[in-house]
Amino acid sequence: MAKYDRIYNFSAGPSMLPLSVLEKAAGEMFNYHGTGESVMEMSHRSAEFQAIIDKAESDLRDLLCIPDNYKVLFLQGGGTLQFSMVPMNLLRNTGKADYILTGSWAKKAYEEACKFGDIKVAASSEDDQFSYIPVCGREDFRADADYVYICYNNTIFGTHYPYIPDTGDIPLVADMSSCFLSEEIDVSRFGLIFAGAQKNVAPAGVTIVIIREDLIGHAGEKTPVYLDYKIHADKGSMYNTPPCYTIYIAGLVFEYLKSIGGLSEMHRMDVEKAGKLYDYLDSTDFYKTTTDPKDRSLMNITFVTGDKELDAKFVEEARAQGMANLKGHRSVGGIRASLYNAMPPEGVDKLVAFMKKFETENK
Ligand SMILES: *Cc1c(COP(=O)(O)O)cnc(C)c1O
Repeated sequence: MAKYDRIYNFSAGPSMLPLSVLEKAAGEMFNYHGTGESVMEMSHRSAEFQAIIDKAESDLRDLLCIPDNYKVLFLQGGGTLQFSMVPMNLLRNTGKADYILTGSWAKKAYEEACKFGDIKVAASSEDDQFSYIPVCGREDFRADADYVYICYNNTIFGTHYPYIPDTGDIPLVADMSSCFLSEEIDVSRFGLIFAGAQKNVAPAGVTIVIIREDLIGHAGEKTPVYLDYKIHADKGSMYNTPPCYTIYIAGLVFEYLKSIGGLSEMHRMDVEKAGKLYDYLDSTDFYKTTTDPKDRSLMNITFVTGDKELDAKFVEEARAQGMANLKGHRSVGGIRASLYNAMPPEGVDKLVAFMKKFETENK
């Protein structure tokens, strides 16, 4: 880190990328593999770019053990466009879908879906400021729902599902934007998984969709062409110009994850990093966590001092010491440390040391 004088960026997104990925991209910037051009300048129809997207997909399939009956799509529009595309494509029989509300992103997805069908809130933790994950099973969902929707990791509130809801035969849709590739996932339990890249995968610009094949091809006739999963599945994510450079960086991140031993190893490191911070938070009364311990996120860790001015002072002093973006989301305040995959363990050590000192000085 010292070599480049970099900060530790605790932002919820866009966030840090592995230094080795940035170095590799920098090295390939002016002349990618002897082509005489950068990936930014390259035709998306070239053999070189085809090789880049093919390898990215195949490495992602390896990392997540994605079954053959699932398509991987590289789309644009962020997580937000998926809030619309999911109902437009998946409300295919009864027009009913059940949503579990566990935070702002789930709520936004729900509000958007309400434009398209008969959408029900199956459960919600809004009664307690989204501090926990409701426990739901088959009996909580309408048997004829076209899908059930969850937000697997709640970026703003700092919670994560400790379980995968059993929906029986109803396809389960999960927004994994802020925990994608931080753990192994049994993809076959889901009908559709999506993740915007800028939290844990790549720069902003690409959204990864993993969708079971039987859920493709049901969009209504008037669906705008870009919003139909089928066009992207049929054209290998190249119906139009894809976000080439972002896909390339995502591919480098997938390579990096494979090189360190895959998602089980990544998860072990994430558990260790988050564990250090939670252990300290649990050992002091000065800072208070805002989430139910059994539903804690490894990626987004939220806490408060109980005094807004002190929270602000904390964020400011940390920034001055090279630890950036610790302010909680504007809708909830407080402090939030996002410890995504690329946050080095040293960043967490530095944060905890700072927190101890800040506690002593401000108690
Ligand atoms: C950031 C985020 C989004 C929104 O992503 P955009 O790419 O900005 O549209 C959606 N869901 C979750 C869980 C997020 O963290």
